[in-house]
Amino acid sequence: MSDTPRSLPLVFDEPRGRRRPPRHLADMSAAERKELASGLGLPGFRARQLSTHYFSRLVDDPAEMTDLPAADREQLVAGLLPPLMTSLRTLEADGGTTRKTLWRLFDGALVESVLMRYPDRVTMCVSSQAGCGMACPFCATGQGGLQRNMSTAEIVEQVVAGARALARDEVPGGPGRVSNVVFMGMGEPLANYRAVIGAVRRLTDKAPDGLGMSARGITVSTVGLAPRIRQLADEGLPVTLALSLHAPDDELRDELVPINTRFKVHEAVEAAWEYARRTKRRVSIEYAMMRGINDQGWRADLLADVLTSYGDWGWVHVNLIPLNPTPGSRWTASDPRDEREFVRRLEARGIPTTVRDTRGREIDGACGQLAAAE
Ligand code: SAH
Repeated sequence: MSDTPRSLPLVFDEPRGRRRPPRHLADMSAAERKELASGLGLPGFRARQLSTHYFSRLVDDPAEMTDLPAADREQLVAGLLPPLMTSLRTLEADGGTTRKTLWRLFDGALVESVLMRYPDRVTMCVSSQAGCGMACPFCATGQGGLQRNMSTAEIVEQVVAGARALARDEVPGGPGRVSNVVFMGMGEPLANYRAVIGAVRRLTDKAPDGLGMSARGITVSTVGLAPRIRQLADEGLPVTLALSLHAPDDELRDELVPINTRFKVHEAVEAAWEYARRTKRRVSIEYAMMRGINDQGWRADLLADVLTSYGDWGWVHVNLIPLNPTPGSRWTASDPRDEREFVRRLEARGIPTTVRDTRGREIDGACGQLAAAE
């Protein structure tokens, strides 16, 4: 990679002619599954039995589905549980409580997910697209372009795989469950809107129709596709919204987050504020701290101006992310002193601010670098 950034185009639609991932149980609502089972000439309740295996028992071996008659089992598994992805490798950090998995999808596309276990919760960071079309220059995934959208089931399967590992006591800390899901892996979730909403529904559908998670434990992170943020508010799903702002002024944000050339800082922040107002969920502003680029004290003040201009009723908090430099990139992490000063200035203006922990940094957690290196 050279020092002079070559800007990539923004890409909203996946390349034409890609084959679709196979249809899977997790792509469908409970009603659709039942209909499909009937279509196969099977009693409708077989769909529910299969869902119980997949979502509640987290079984992936058909031999364990002993309540299904052998003939029906074969037909159901072939029609509804096709293999979606194979794990190429898993990297561990933090004594095994951070695990990043590189997956190969049916067509060879590579994506990754990360499991992070904390004393009080387990968070799965998932990918929503193979690659990404949003072209953010500091992001490894953004520099690779968009290969294709992932299906609902491909997104859900990453969480189910994590849930299985926890249930089978493969993660230090004893058997456990996934409590949180963040759409902060590869891809722009709101550019793959339908599949992502489907995945959120499967994650939150009550067992055995889905994983039965709380929507409050799910965070959708976006570059700021304002119309899609409004659409998300209409869904009536109280997921947490994270807006990747990274700069409070259009001049710099045009460069760091190229979608800003379509939706300006004020449009993105206004959509986020409206999301908070309508869903009563506090919005998170993501801000990757880049040395000498966006970490000046005056930019902290400007960020505070922008956010407080929408009122101070606790609608927002800021999450600073220490930049994880991509190979050959001209951006690097901020000096800790500048970071502290940035936090101080935001807090002085009453804006709750956290600095994200750098879990899994040595395995390039959550920044698209494993798949990019492949
Ligand atoms: N497309 C979504 C999800 C992407 S990843 C979005 O942009 O929000 C989640 C977060 O990681 C985003 O805030 C993204 O800007 C940030 N990110 C990407 N590359 C990074 C890097 N090298 N270091 C730190 N944060 C990074």
